[in-house]
Amino acid sequence: MNLILLGPPGAGKGTQAKLLEEGFGLVQVSTGDMLRAEVKAGSEIGLQAKAIMERGDLVPDSIITAMLAARVSRPDAAKGFILDGFPRTVPQAEALDAMLSEKSLSLDHVIELKVDDAALVERISGRYTCGNCGEGYHDSFKQPVKPGVCDKCGHTEFVRRADDKAETVAARLSAYHRQTAPLLPYYGAQGKLKAVDGMASMTSVAAALSVIVKG
Ligand code: AMP
Repeated sequence: MNLILLGPPGAGKGTQAKLLEEGFGLVQVSTGDMLRAEVKAGSEIGLQAKAIMERGDLVPDSIITAMLAARVSRPDAAKGFILDGFPRTVPQAEALDAMLSEKSLSLDHVIELKVDDAALVERISGRYTCGNCGEGYHDSFKQPVKPGVCDKCGHTEFVRRADDKAETVAARLSAYHRQTAPLLPYYGAQGKLKAVDGMASMTSVAAALSVIVKG
């Protein structure tokens, strides 16, 4: 089973991809996480991507598609994958189609998480994660049970993404509408597109996704 989760930044793609990973044994492939790891490592790709990401723009298609091709060729991806944050442009989607057909693979579902722009700004600007295990939290919606201590691993340091600042969020939303939204008709024409109400609670969204995945 190979899936794409489509939706604007803050729609819940990462959270839901992790739940699908746990529930269905699929592998989450997040190009944003991969790029942040490259930036942290100070690699060539990281150096090229850092300033672009901080502005809220998209990293060039050539860099991303090469990175994605290498990731889906790894043995664990054979179990099936959930693409989270890729593709983000029509050329990336075309490259993905070519890549999959070369490997005799296909996409089972492309699922759009629909969320209003106004809600996204609040969702994104309040979010942070545990600096050790990556568990996600939010200033308004999900604080750790014991203040300042990660529920999952007990760590006491938390991190906020550099591009989750209000100024950058506007640029990221505009990149979504301009460059990524054209993927909706692209996958609609392939008969693969399904939509889920991303404004619903995390558990309701997860339930809707599992209905689609179970078929
Ligand atoms: P994300 O974690 O998916 O919100 O991605 C964070 C940032 O990484 C984006 O704002 C882009 O700058 C970059 N990025 C992630 N995935 C892609 C992609 N598929 N194409 C271009 N840029 C990407």
